[in-house]
Amino acid sequence: DKAHVQYNQKHPQSRENHVEACRYMPGGNTRTVLHTTPFPLTIDLGRDCHLTTVDGIRYVDFLGEYTAGIYGHSHPVIKDAVQMALESGWNYGGHNPLEPQLARRVCERFPAVELVRFVNSGTEANMMAIATAVAYTGKKKVLLFNKGYHGSTISGNTSAINLPHEFVVGTYNDVEGTEDLVRSLLPSAKDTLAAILVEPMLGSGGCYAGTPRFLGSLRKLAEDANALLIFDEVMTSRLHYRGLGSQTGVTPDLMTLGKWVGGGMSFGAFGGRRDIMALYDPRSGSLQHPGTFNNNVFTMAAGIAGCDLLTADKLGALNHLGDSMRQQIERVLSTRAIQGTLPAGPVTDDMQSPQHPRCPPKMFVSGVGSLMAIHFAGPDRDLLQGLFFHHMLESGVYLAPRGFIALNIVLTEEHIAQFVQAVEGFCDKYDRFL
Ligand code: PLP
Repeated sequence: DKAHVQYNQKHPQSRENHVEACRYMPGGNTRTVLHTTPFPLTIDLGRDCHLTTVDGIRYVDFLGEYTAGIYGHSHPVIKDAVQMALESGWNYGGHNPLEPQLARRVCERFPAVELVRFVNSGTEANMMAIATAVAYTGKKKVLLFNKGYHGSTISGNTSAINLPHEFVVGTYNDVEGTEDLVRSLLPSAKDTLAAILVEPMLGSGGCYAGTPRFLGSLRKLAEDANALLIFDEVMTSRLHYRGLGSQTGVTPDLMTLGKWVGGGMSFGAFGGRRDIMALYDPRSGSLQHPGTFNNNVFTMAAGIAGCDLLTADKLGALNHLGDSMRQQIERVLSTRAIQGTLPAGPVTDDMQSPQHPRCPPKMFVSGVGSLMAIHFAGPDRDLLQGLFFHHMLESGVYLAPRGFIALNIVLTEEHIAQFVQAVEGFCDKYDRFL
């Protein structure tokens, strides 16, 4: 309560903005993920790796717009590209020369993508990929995984709003369990299963990497069932120049993209095997996908600039910075006898409850390269997650309330040191709970 009083005093303009927003939007909110208590901060300035709120308080941005903000804020190269687009008008109701330029970059970068189509969000990319699989196979069931997140209308969380597809939900990283599940489909997976949709690393679900054995087993299950394997790389495509999935040696039939690939503008894409994507060829295919904003000029321009900025070297350096950050956090936790690492095995919903036989340490970090999450387990986990978020804000660090972190290319070793020091401060301050 004391913390809430202080928060109210420190952020009066954010509070006022929230009250105004509540008049017109449910809970003052149009992006569920941004909701926090007592009210979310309102930001009106982003520069390099800093965010400033309407109350003039500046934070180092460790959230990176849930991975879309990999470039930091107002990157000059992207700004120039958008400014140029601005000069020539937009909403042509016609093709523009930027489309094939972005499409070429996507296809050259991600070998699984032989042909691509653009949309406006990751959600839409996955909706289209599923629709494509249903049309291509003539079947209806879609296997996805608990804690998997594929957009506002598609997730492995059964309490979420889900599109009216026949979803079947498996356990992430559980090879045998998934094989049993597919075997149990009636009359058979061959007759019913259209697609397997999976993230190579659970992103929103906690930054748990898929094992090569798990992803490889999905490839085999899809083949045996004549179903399509879809890698959702909306988040993970930034974890390697060719996408995280490419590192497992598994090639999907379709791949979905979003977030950073559009240079930080509204973006999504789906693509894959030539014979499947040919369904959308207006000269010969049977599927339509007219989308007014599919080729929007700003996204195309920003996406081209962004893809050119993120060379293999640049991405490698960023992912290296993330690996080093996780190691430093783990060192802080282990010197305080809080082990840092999650025990291996299937990722289950009850994993962080104290009753679970594999209940992990009270505080731990998971992730790959530049994406990670700081978790709490045990009976006080929700309390600790909230305390951690507010402690980090007090230390000048902005991250997701649930502990999710996405680094951007403007962050330096010094910023990482500031973050790690803040984690140390948290462990000292709340050591009685840990
Ligand atoms: N797929 C994954 C793996 C995501 O992480 C997200 C968003 O966080 C989406 C899809 C949905 O993308 P969007 O928010 O652009 O609709």
